[in-house]
Amino acid sequence: NSFQDYPLSEEIIRAIDSLGYTEPTPVQRKVIPQVLAQRDLTVRAQTGSGKTAAFGIPICELVAWEENKPQALILTPTRELAGQIKEDIINIGRFKRIKAVAIYGKQPFAQQKIELKQKVHVIAGTPGRVLDHIQRGTLQVDKLRYLVIDEADEMLSRGFIEQVEAILEQLPGNRLTLLFSATMPPDVERLCHKFMKSPVDIEI
Ligand code: AMP
Repeated sequence: NSFQDYPLSEEIIRAIDSLGYTEPTPVQRKVIPQVLAQRDLTVRAQTGSGKTAAFGIPICELVAWEENKPQALILTPTRELAGQIKEDIINIGRFKRIKAVAIYGKQPFAQQKIELKQKVHVIAGTPGRVLDHIQRGTLQVDKLRYLVIDEADEMLSRGFIEQVEAILEQLPGNRLTLLFSATMPPDVERLCHKFMKSPVDIEI
């Protein structure tokens, strides 16, 4: 089993090679083909399993470079994780010239506003600040086609679920939704029922 087995462009394969990933991890094996086939997914996977690349690789593949408005949004519970995901996306999308930004609280709003005015394909951010930008119109979501809710159980325990729900209500309906969570508490299950289209359930 290798990354060459998936329908990935030469730019993405070259980036995976340069990252030194020789073969997909178990979560990547299950997730990458399903995302490329545009299926909603709920994935029970832990940090360290390679889950960032599991959604990052197919998202970088699917994003249309020409489009100027954001196409993918990745919601995470912490600033550190948002920054890490942004870096991973930049590395995976390097040869396709994918632009990614991280937006989170405790960072000047004005600076993020300037970043969001440029061409950006992928946004990684924490729910409160993302919602703030959507409500102020500094983050346009009309071209958004891919949404990742990362560490959903952690979002719940930090009290972010209502903000996540408020964001989901603002997004276009014809999008792909991927939800990653180590556990599936009832409030996370409810969110899946409400906002996802018969998701395929993946357990590692
Ligand atoms: P994550 O679970 O996304 O936090 O990833 C954990 C670590 O595994 C990160 O340092 C990744 O760079 C690395 N990683 C992800 N996919 C692979 C792979 N296919 N082969 C080797 N390392 C990987």
